[in-house]
Amino acid sequence: MIQILDKQFDLFITREQIDRDITAIAEKINADYAERKPLLIGTLNGAFIFAADLVRKLNFEHEIQFTKISSYDGMDTTGEVKELIGLTVDITGRDVIIVEDIIDTGTTMSHLVPQLKAKGARSVEIAALLMKPGKLKVPLDVKYCAMEIPNEFIVGYGLDYDNYGRNYADIYVVKE
Ligand code: 5GP
Ligand code: MG
Repeated sequence: MIQILDKQFDLFITREQIDRDITAIAEKINADYAERKPLLIGTLNGAFIFAADLVRKLNFEHEIQFTKISSYDGMDTTGEVKELIGLTVDITGRDVIIVEDIIDTGTTMSHLVPQLKAKGARSVEIAALLMKPGKLKVPLDVKYCAMEIPNEFIVGYGLDYDNYGRNYADIYVVKE
C-alpha cells in the first residue's frame, strides 16, 4: 500500500505485467508499421513513461514528438475545444500513432484524432496503455490497447494524483 497526499492506494498492476502487455502491443505495431516511418505523438504529461518504454520495443524507423492537450472555452457547440500545445512538426501525409496513457470517457481522443486528420495526416491510430471500456462515452477506434481495467482511479507509471505519484514503477488503485 502507498500514500499520496490524502489518499491510499493498493498495488494493482505490477511492472512485470505492464512490461509483458507493452511487449505484446509493440509486436503488433512492429508488424503493421515496418517501412512506413510513422510519427508517434505522445500526450504529456501522463504518457511520458509509456512512450519511453514503447519506443524501445519498436524495431522500425520512426519519429517521436510530444504534445500537451489543453482544454479551454472555445466557440464550438460543446463549449470546449482541445488545443494542441507544442506540436510544431508538419504532419501532412504522415502515418501518425498517438501514444496515450489512459482512455476514460474517450473525449480527449475523440477531439484529437479529427484534429490530426484535419492537419493532413495520412492515417491516425491510437496506442493506449490503458482503457476503461465501462466509462467510454463516445465511439472510439483504439487499434492498440495494452490493458483494459474497470472503472477505478489509478496512479503510477506516469499517471498522477494531483501531479504526484507519476514516479511509481507499478500501477496502484485508489482504496475506497
Ligand atoms: P478522457 O478524455 O478519455 O475522459 O480522459 C483521458 C484523460 O483523463 C487521461 O489522459 C488522464 O489524464 C485522465 N485519466 C483518466 N482516468 C484516469 C485515472 O484512472 N488516473 C489518472 N491518473 N488519470 C486518469
Ligand atoms: Mg493522457
